[in-house]
Amino acid sequence: MNDWIDLRSDTVTRPTPAMREAMLRAEVGDDVYGEDPTVNALQDRLAAELGFEAALFVPSGTQSNLLALMSHCERGDEYLVGMDAHTYKYEGGGAAVLGSIQPQPVPHADDGTLPLDALASVIKPVDPHFARTRLLCLENTWHGRPLPLDYLAAARRFCAAHGLALHLDGARLYNAAVACGVPAREIARHFDSVSVCFSKGLGAPVGSVLAGSRALIGKARRWRKVAGGGWRQAGMLAAACLHALDHHVARLAEDHARAARLAAGLRGLPGLTVAGQHTGMVFIEVPAERLPAFKAHMEAARIRLSIGYLPTIRMVTHLDIDDAGIERTLAAFREFFR
Ligand SMILES: *Cc1c(COP(=O)(O)O)cnc(C)c1O
Repeated sequence: MNDWIDLRSDTVTRPTPAMREAMLRAEVGDDVYGEDPTVNALQDRLAAELGFEAALFVPSGTQSNLLALMSHCERGDEYLVGMDAHTYKYEGGGAAVLGSIQPQPVPHADDGTLPLDALASVIKPVDPHFARTRLLCLENTWHGRPLPLDYLAAARRFCAAHGLALHLDGARLYNAAVACGVPAREIARHFDSVSVCFSKGLGAPVGSVLAGSRALIGKARRWRKVAGGGWRQAGMLAAACLHALDHHVARLAEDHARAARLAAGLRGLPGLTVAGQHTGMVFIEVPAERLPAFKAHMEAARIRLSIGYLPTIRMVTHLDIDDAGIERTLAAFREFFR
């Protein structure tokens, strides 16, 4: 159908024939009335699997995080977040724009954690001068890196000690779980709410799920409607997510292995730096003066990379990249960097 190898992101996957079949067969109803059986099945399943009372199916991870922030915080509240976190940096400032919630960004440590002493130093005193610090938001995986499980436990204790709620942007929660060799619940149990994307490595065309307490999800459902995210016969999309839970979780290990194979093949090529590889992500650096020629070379080889957006090029393996795709990519790199 198309011989391009697209390593820009794991969002580019197309639904498999079996996933499309599941979507076609989905029973549907009006989800604004809470009557879509397939949406309800997905929400119930994810809540149970992650150890929460309730869950809400939403169109995007951005909306899922926004609803979580708006449900945990009120106008004039503040949330602590990583300086490079998706929620803070890549969601249009939604918490501030739409929720009147002030972000307090904190620099990340190299492993993606937010050092607890740095967090403690920015919590505001209870005083009318300050926003009310209410919530800590973490991201896992972080640039492909699973956060250490003992850090998550420490963050939970930290939040309990300071009266903060704890939200996880778990866009790639299942990548973290597979990489750590634990059920996703082992990660989720430290949090008051978790957002999971199905449109990334899990390979569904659309959708995220926010899980939390019944009270929190009740608020989030209201904000979803306000944000224009109340959808109707969404069961066809939920069916794709249920299919992904059945068939696309364990296989994430294959994406991780292919990323490791890709990184190993690139290390040592003259003029190329492999800056890191974690789960399905490989980060490389190409000298700026060679970028235009590199870009043209890869395009001629029908390999799509996200070049020119950040100094580091991120390559992401996924459902639509097989072993032959990795070998073809390595061959194209060798041709250029020999
Ligand atoms: C993709 C992503 C999201 C949500 O993105 P949407 O495109 O809105 O679904 C949130 N956090 C992280 C870390 C992501 O990678």
